[in-house]
Amino acid sequence: MENHFDKRLDPTLLVEDSKSVISLLLNYYPENTQLEDSYKISKYAYGTDYHLVIKDKLKELLLSIQETIGEVSGRAFVDSAPVLDKAWAAKSGLGWIGKNSNLLTQKVGSFYFIAELIIDLDLDYDNATTDHCGTCTACIDSCPTEAIVAPYIVDGSKCISYFTIELKEHIPQEMKGKFDDWAFGCDICQDVCPWNKFSKPHNEPLFNANPELLSMSKKDWEEITEDTFKVVFKDSPLKRTKFSGLKRNIDFLK
Ligand code: SF4
Ligand code: SF4
Repeated sequence: MENHFDKRLDPTLLVEDSKSVISLLLNYYPENTQLEDSYKISKYAYGTDYHLVIKDKLKELLLSIQETIGEVSGRAFVDSAPVLDKAWAAKSGLGWIGKNSNLLTQKVGSFYFIAELIIDLDLDYDNATTDHCGTCTACIDSCPTEAIVAPYIVDGSKCISYFTIELKEHIPQEMKGKFDDWAFGCDICQDVCPWNKFSKPHNEPLFNANPELLSMSKKDWEEITEDTFKVVFKDSPLKRTKFSGLKRNIDFLK
């Protein structure tokens, strides 16, 4: 990230002659969730990997801009390139960055992917909205690993998402018993956020969970084989941990 810092601040280093950043949100809040007696995975990971789904949508959008307006150059970004996506989304008035460091909206909460199109077309721009966290501290109080070290500051190295997805080695023993059954990512600080009462189910079929996933009990997770993993999580973000990472996480939770 450090190497990309200039680019994160200056979109013209990413797209020559860029003039506008178009920030977009895509809902992933699922209609159905996992069984109560199950190890949990983050809701964003229920369906097909969002990088694949959103890249296609962004390409379509750019194409339709080009068809409507003419010669416009641009580049699509979904979480993978060096772009300050939450900051751009907040600057464009899509929401505010809450004390849990997620982008929040008053209308629909925070279960949204953020993406950008950076283009060389001058557009009218929207302005930032205001912060509506107020005196609430629900996310800070609920984080089981105390990763939200101060309002708006999450220590990534203490977050369950880091331990269960990014970390390649063993999970430190001092974290034992603190993961509240989260086996891939963690949604606690979003689930407790009062603004997420306004979440509505998404309408993107590719984000629908494999029915097998929703019916898996703890025992099923503990007994999952690599072959089943490959079928149930084909094209899923869970492939990031690979089967061995998921097994490590489940063993840690047992
Ligand atoms: S995702 Fe979970 S572990 Fe990470 S900050 Fe939020 S509540 Fe804490
Ligand atoms: S739980 Fe409360 S403090 Fe945390 S992000 Fe939501 S509104 Fe803000």
